Amino acid sequence: MYLVGAGPGDPGLLTARALELIAAADTILYDRLIPRAALDGARADAELLFVGKQGGGESVPQEQIEELLVQHARSGRTVVRLKGGDPFVFGRGGEEALRLRRAGIAYEIVPGVTAGVAASAYAGIPVTHRGLASAVALVTGHEDPDKDLSTSIDWQGLAVFPGTLVFYMGVRRLSAIASSLIAAGRSADEPVAIVERGTLPGQRTVLGTLATIAEVASAEHVSAPSITVVGPVASLSRELSWLAPAPLAGVTVAVTRARASASGLARRLESLGAHVIQAPAIRTVALPGPAPDLAAYDLLCLTSPVGVASLFARLREEGCDARALAGTRIAAIGPGTAEALSARGIAADIVPERAVAESLLEALANATPPVRRALIARAREGRDVLPDGLRALGVEVDVLALYETVADAPPAHVLREALAADYMAFTSVSTVRFFLAAATGRDAAGGSKAPESTRAAPGAQATDSMAGGRPIGLAAGTRIVSIGPITSAALREHGLQPQVEASAHDIDGLLQALLADAASR
Ligand code: SAH
Repeated sequence: MYLVGAGPGDPGLLTARALELIAAADTILYDRLIPRAALDGARADAELLFVGKQGGGESVPQEQIEELLVQHARSGRTVVRLKGGDPFVFGRGGEEALRLRRAGIAYEIVPGVTAGVAASAYAGIPVTHRGLASAVALVTGHEDPDKDLSTSIDWQGLAVFPGTLVFYMGVRRLSAIASSLIAAGRSADEPVAIVERGTLPGQRTVLGTLATIAEVASAEHVSAPSITVVGPVASLSRELSWLAPAPLAGVTVAVTRARASASGLARRLESLGAHVIQAPAIRTVALPGPAPDLAAYDLLCLTSPVGVASLFARLREEGCDARALAGTRIAAIGPGTAEALSARGIAADIVPERAVAESLLEALANATPPVRRALIARAREGRDVLPDGLRALGVEVDVLALYETVADAPPAHVLREALAADYMAFTSVSTVRFFLAAATGRDAAGGSKAPESTRAAPGAQATDSMAGGRPIGLAAGTRIVSIGPITSAALREHGLQPQVEASAHDIDGLLQALLADAASR
């Protein structure tokens, strides 16, 4: 059993020991304020249990969490209890350790970088500083407005404390905190800094004094998670702040691709400071079937990471592994596909310069030795460019449908948000087709209707007639980002003109194009 601190939010502040244990865990019980990427390194078969508060709602009661810890530890599994910041700083890690000790369960405590110190540092505030602060106090301000501050906190003691005060959990009680400190004798002119979302994309620092900070914070709509630093060191932030504003701070981007493949894109957008709306209109479903006999082919073409995963799933079902691909030349369209292969120990022989079938055909036209029999393993609904082009080169071609793309319409409120975003990103023809189908309430073929619940709300002008000059109720300012010319053509076919088109037709290219566009505006 490991009680592990995950740091304040920036995944770079996870400790080496935390990463090691996350990778080894059978079960991880985690809180809300852990870095989003913290679980990326967990084993695919690890059991991940969320025990935090969901969107301001109820959290799993502490007693129940402790019971879960004991149960899981007793089952003989490797259990990681992952908490934001440091487990022993306002993390109830002490209570959990006591419970484990009482139950006779051995444990290790892995300290984490605590928010009070880390958010301060990321805002350019040294919590101690020669001549300004020779001590620092970490104080809970209580998020819970029902709790009585006057009884739980020794204001007299804090007023005379000779150093910096760092308040956790106090952002909703700022005015009570500030006035209690002043009433107890702390100077009303003392500098105060609030660091919101410290170390995370979109970190923000708000400065004031004990007299002004409550008003400033409310005018600036400061919200949790935030720490409040009281003391002369707070004003050093003006001189020492170093974090460049994120390039996409304040920018909203709607992502329409399937959730599984979108998470990488969404995460990267978020790390650039964007607010991401995930509005997947499709999801992929593996088609059942036997693994292909690859020995019969001298070329295997894979066209997407999902295709790679589906192929390996079929191989696994038959007790085979990567060795089934030995001896067959392998072509991968797109760097993501090549990466998915590489993660399974396979270096693709051919990765065309541009991530489109046409580019692969060019590369194959001069392949030595020439290709005689090719297997294209891909989605059921792919384009015919590759098989037709290969046949035109005299190649015998089989197409194996490994998965299909099905509609997965986002709920109406998500659609509405997506249509009002600063950017809408389209990464394939199918995302265009299915998203527009969802937004207009038609099916992807343009025929009959989708169920009521998946239609855009009336306010979103859910018709394919032009509304205010733009179809499907797209906001006038929303810029459409396309991954490449084929996706752009599909957009135009539906009356949508992309403002931004990536010149490299992959996620990197798309991000680059979006960043350049945002910077120029
Ligand atoms: N164990 C954690 C603290 C948990 S209490 C730690 O050591 O950091 C939760 C409080 O921590 C929040 O209400 C907020 O005050 C603070 N906090 C956590 N993450 C934060 C962040 N990224 N930026 C600012 N404050 C944060």
